[in-house]
Amino acid sequence: MHPRLLFWVPALLRLGLVFLAAGVAWWLFGMVAGLSLALLITMTLLVVQLAYLHQLGEWLDHPHSSRLPDGWGSWTDVFARLYRLRRDDERNQNELAEWLARFRQAMHLLPEGVAIMDDVLFLEWCNPAAERHLGLTLEKDKGRRVTNLIRHPEFIDYIILGRYEQPLTLSFRGRKLVVQIIPFENRRQILVTHDATETERIEAMRRDFIANASHELRTPLTVVVGFLEIAMADPGMDERTRVAHLKLMTEQAQRMQRLIEDMLTLSRLESSDYPLKRERVDVKTLVEQVALDARALSNGRHTIDFTVDGPDVMGSLDELRSAFGNLATNAVRYTPEGGSIKLAWERGANDLRFSVADTGIGIDEQHISRLTERFYRVDKSRSRETQGTGLGLAIVKHVLLRHGGKLTISSQAGQGSVFTAVLPNTSLPG
Ligand code: ADP
Repeated sequence: MHPRLLFWVPALLRLGLVFLAAGVAWWLFGMVAGLSLALLITMTLLVVQLAYLHQLGEWLDHPHSSRLPDGWGSWTDVFARLYRLRRDDERNQNELAEWLARFRQAMHLLPEGVAIMDDVLFLEWCNPAAERHLGLTLEKDKGRRVTNLIRHPEFIDYIILGRYEQPLTLSFRGRKLVVQIIPFENRRQILVTHDATETERIEAMRRDFIANASHELRTPLTVVVGFLEIAMADPGMDERTRVAHLKLMTEQAQRMQRLIEDMLTLSRLESSDYPLKRERVDVKTLVEQVALDARALSNGRHTIDFTVDGPDVMGSLDELRSAFGNLATNAVRYTPEGGSIKLAWERGANDLRFSVADTGIGIDEQHISRLTERFYRVDKSRSRETQGTGLGLAIVKHVLLRHGGKLTISSQAGQGSVFTAVLPNTSLPG
């Protein structure tokens, strides 16, 4: 039935019933009784309508779907429709609130900073990353002009020039920030910030590494080229000089070879294309081999002992051999003749440890934290004389990192050093 009929038919029927009742009363008891009954019923109906109107008014003050009265007569339908309207509204509101909460959480977790400003750059909202990057506090700075909050000449120029297609890189509060303004909705603008400090640091490291590596290679190369030029200019060079030159050239070429091999090893260790291949490593045999190699290098100039009290581990045999071997050869290279070197593989309180203790030249406190940097050497000439590349400890550090471990160094200048490769208990087999 048409909604209009749905309302009017029962309403008119009810009115008809009132008249009918009044008519019957009139007919049975006379006019006064009929009219009185009609008045009484009409008044009652009016009071009922007013009561519902009052309830509706009260409900409108706190329009919650669960608090709607049932109603009577036409009110039943009115309240039912209001109920549906309100329930849909509440559902929409809940969905909206959920969506907003999700959006806020996403914005909270976003590593990029996002700040929303109006057309005259008053801050309306920003996420925690923007607070961190720009040193803002939303509660305190909301409604303040962004150019008063970020007092950086380059940033102000960026805003004045309005060339927002390009991001701007700033040094701000000790960090490298990439910022960009994106206008939207005609009257609003988004300020996006990205912290590029880490990328910048890696880029600087890469530049340093290339500069250092080129420098390291240039020296032996210059020597080789020099000898070759001498040999070309003097074809009749006597045999002894020629042999001496060839020997020196070979040494320099081998130095370049070692450097390149170490650089390749390092880049392999850092590359995700070479994931760690775990296998069961027989550490006892490994330490024996490392000690044998160290003795061969020492050629009887040092006393070299080893003890193995620890278990086998899961890891890469080649990588561990290279790490342990590096520590042992370093001990030989930096310990004067007559010194002693002790290798030990044992269980720590919560880990596994391979330590190399020597009675060598030791290291001054100030250098210790930098030893694992590429090409960092305390004494460049001693390192070169003993065929060092300056990359050994960087390799050790990377190998241990890949195995979830670390390198600890304790040393005193003139007293000797202890280098310890610490592996986690998770390296234990099975
Ligand atoms: P290098 O090829 O120069 O030995 P490493 O990375 O192996 O390069 O070591 C870096 C520096 O750490 C060395 O140049 C040396 O100064 C210092 N060093 C390493 N091991 C020892 C040690 N056992 N005793 C004293 N100094 C050491």
